[in-house]
Amino acid sequence: MALRKIAVQGDDCLNKVCRPVKEFNGRLHMLLDDLKDTLVESNGVGLAAPQVGILRRVCVVMNEDDEIIELVNPTVVSTEGEQTGFEGCLSVPGKYGIVTRPNVVRVRAQDRNGCTFEVEDEGLTARCFCHEIEHLDGHLFVEKTDQLLTEEELEEYIRKQEEENQENEEN
Ligand code: ZN
Repeated sequence: MALRKIAVQGDDCLNKVCRPVKEFNGRLHMLLDDLKDTLVESNGVGLAAPQVGILRRVCVVMNEDDEIIELVNPTVVSTEGEQTGFEGCLSVPGKYGIVTRPNVVRVRAQDRNGCTFEVEDEGLTARCFCHEIEHLDGHLFVEKTDQLLTEEELEEYIRKQEEENQENEEN
C-alpha cells in the first residue's frame, strides 16, 4: 500500500497518449493498488495512471456504491443520452467546469488478470468513465469547458440552481 504523488496541469505526463498494458503482472497489481489508495486518500471519484506519472492505459473509478472499478485498457463501447454538470479533476485542484457528457456509458476493459469485461453506468459514474479514459489519451476536462469556476463560484452556481429548482417546484 502506497500513495503516489498526483501530477498537476502543466506536467508533461498529463498530455501524453498512454500505451496499452500487455503484461498483467505484479507491477500492474501494485499500480492498481496504489491508484486506489491514492484515490481514497484524495477523496476523488476517479484516477488514471498518467496522473501519477505512469503512461499506461490504466484507471480506477469509484461508483455511487463506493465500489472501486479497476479498468485496464478501457474503451467506451456505447453511450446514451446527455448530461451537463460540473466536473473537477485531482490534477486541476480547486477548479471546476461545466462539461456535457453522455448520460449512460458502457465500457469494455480488462481486469487485473487480463480478463475482458463490460461495465455500464449512468450519471456521475458515466461522467467519470469518460473523464478517466480521456486522461489515457492525454486530455483534461478543461479542454471541454468554456469557463472554469473557483470553489466559491461553484457554490454560488449550485445555490442559484437550487433556487431555480425550488421556483420550478413552486410553480
Ligand atoms: Zn482527472
